Amino acid sequence: MKVDHKLPTVDHIDPFISAEIPDKSEDPQLHYLVSKYMIHGPCGAANLSCPCMVDNKCSKRFPKKFSDHTIIDSSGFPVYRRQDSGHTVMKKGVQLDNRSVVPYNKGLLKRYQAHINVEWCNQAGSIKYLFKYINKGPDRATAVLYTDSTGTSNQKINDEIKQYYDCRYISACEASWRIFANEVHYRYPAVMRLPFHLPGQHNVVYGEDDDIEDVLNKPSVASSIFLQWMRLNERDEEARKLTYVEFPTKYVWNLKDRCWQVRKRYKTVGRVHSVSIASGEPYYLRILLNKVRGPKSFEEIRTVNGQVFPTFKDACYAMGLLDDDNEYVEAIKEASFEAHCRYLRSLFATLLLTNTLSRPEFVWEKTWHLLGDDILFKRRKETHIPESNFGGN
Ligand SMILES: [Zn+2]
Repeated sequence: MKVDHKLPTVDHIDPFISAEIPDKSEDPQLHYLVSKYMIHGPCGAANLSCPCMVDNKCSKRFPKKFSDHTIIDSSGFPVYRRQDSGHTVMKKGVQLDNRSVVPYNKGLLKRYQAHINVEWCNQAGSIKYLFKYINKGPDRATAVLYTDSTGTSNQKINDEIKQYYDCRYISACEASWRIFANEVHYRYPAVMRLPFHLPGQHNVVYGEDDDIEDVLNKPSVASSIFLQWMRLNERDEEARKLTYVEFPTKYVWNLKDRCWQVRKRYKTVGRVHSVSIASGEPYYLRILLNKVRGPKSFEEIRTVNGQVFPTFKDACYAMGLLDDDNEYVEAIKEASFEAHCRYLRSLFATLLLTNTLSRPEFVWEKTWHLLGDDILFKRRKETHIPESNFGGN
């Protein structure tokens, strides 16, 4: 999204999202619409049979708390302004106030006159949420009845293409998207993948018959993208203002001459590819690369306040990046944006086995919901139909 489209701070939220009953005399139409469409409940003790009630509690956590201002809580979720204004509405004989308003947008509500819940979601995690719900389709299973052909030589025909078509679900929105031949995906701006490596450990590709002397004399061996970045830092003062990941925004890699040049056109962002914590030093080098500006050598990357540290990990500690286990919580969170729970669990197990965590229970408390995100789905799937008869889901 464009920066000015993101509603980056709480001040941007209030003009777009309201969670209060408007003053009836100021805007009677809006007051009517909010009362009719945007009031949750009554639930709780006043109405135990409300569909939102689970174990005698409102599953949507209404009524919310009063709040004089819109704020963002410690986990990054918005708490909308709900002033104790005294404005109330009657629903099924119960008086409800601002604590029971479902967040809405004034313009949308007036235009469409329907229940439209609008929420501020400005986290990378929201993307996973969106994709999960748009693409998963309803839960389903394919069951096949057939005569067991044991004892005959007939082999069961396994038509994978047919299976793929049978089990592919396209929702109405995806179907119309494809009928209108809209683009299914595109990427802007271009992303440059930035390789990095420990000293003397960059990848060298060569054929099995190549002469070792020739291989070592190849220009690519002496000048990796990563090494050339540090070399340019030696002579370009502007370059030294950037971290490695920021570098492609201002410089472009010239493949022919194997060097970085000042970027004149096109927009590109850089991404330093991720490495597992289990890999050790490369992982800590990557952390430093996201902080250090303009280093001219590996030593400079390991230098903090003028002191050269023996390892990248030590330098991370000296910079205060590993004082607690938050780094590992962040690593699991970051991985959760693109990885399945099974991977996250094995990452956590690796951390335990390598004795990396100083307080494993702290990391567990902060991440168990990510590690077990699929657990309910998995349990539902454990029915007594043989696995082979399941459709892909
Ligand atoms: Zn409720």
